[in-house]
Amino acid sequence: MFEGIIGHDFQKNILLRAARDNLVSHSYLFAGPDGIGKKMVAVEFAKLLNCGRAAPGPEEKCGCASCRKIEKGIHPDVVLIEFTGVRNIKVDQVRDEVEERLYLRPFEGRFKVVIVDESERMNHSAQSAFLKTLEEPPPDSVIILVSSRPDSLLPTLRSRCQTVEFNALPDDLVAGVLRERAGVSPEEALLSSRLSGGSIGKALGLDDGLLEWRRELIARLGNIRKNSASDITSLSEHISSAASQDETERLELGFRFIMLWIRDLALARIGSDRITNTDFLESINNAARKWDVNDLLEMERQVERAWYDIVRANANTKLVLDNLFLKLSVNAGMN
Ligand SMILES: [Zn+2]
Repeated sequence: MFEGIIGHDFQKNILLRAARDNLVSHSYLFAGPDGIGKKMVAVEFAKLLNCGRAAPGPEEKCGCASCRKIEKGIHPDVVLIEFTGVRNIKVDQVRDEVEERLYLRPFEGRFKVVIVDESERMNHSAQSAFLKTLEEPPPDSVIILVSSRPDSLLPTLRSRCQTVEFNALPDDLVAGVLRERAGVSPEEALLSSRLSGGSIGKALGLDDGLLEWRRELIARLGNIRKNSASDITSLSEHISSAASQDETERLELGFRFIMLWIRDLALARIGSDRITNTDFLESINNAARKWDVNDLLEMERQVERAWYDIVRANANTKLVLDNLFLKLSVNAGMN
């Protein structure tokens, strides 16, 4: 169980012990940063709860019929709800997918397990429907809400769940995996692990093309001229230009890189050595001199706000980007 999932030993042990000692909660909240393996741990936990063997070891891969079915996503008692591309989880979907399944008798497993990935995307009525289920949980059911933004869940919903906090994986651990699996140099591995915020999946997704795209982005940010319309436009265009990514992923990456760059300026300002963009040290130190730390923190908020406007409020992407880079050019631009 849990084989192949790197890190999160403390969390795995909590779950292994709960299963071994028959102290499984009806509802869990797996909370922690995006992309670090929370959903994978939840699926492994579902396997553990329904495994046909008495006591599978922590790092042992089990090939029993139940584990294999869960792995393939065809176990009748285990439901994984993912909402890729859909902004809000509708209340009807929760009723159909979850309640009906939960209140049926188990077909073959010991536990009926419902995993909701990105559960914060449920709208309020969907969350309320869930709350009712959590208040009177069907016997032998386990609901696992997975979320990188648990504060977007109703407090009443959160308080019904046993929270398991997950942390970003340490840089050197992610870097080690990258060196092993992708065969990159130690410097590159460390850079990729920092750029991806402790997510192995994201770090592995950073191919040469994307890293080059990022280098170009950081170089342009560092060279932006005050109020230069052409610099602003070319930055906006650059964000939309990375190949091999869909639009949302590319934007998300772009925003993450801009955010990390701004954070680096703040770190440089206070003399910290935790800088992410280590290949741009000189340019970051130069740019940092133009800023006051408070203005940098305000700029971080502006970037977050811009991302929110695009993703949640459906604002025009080009307009939002132009505005953002205009603010950057006013504050950071060279004359
Ligand atoms: Zn098994």
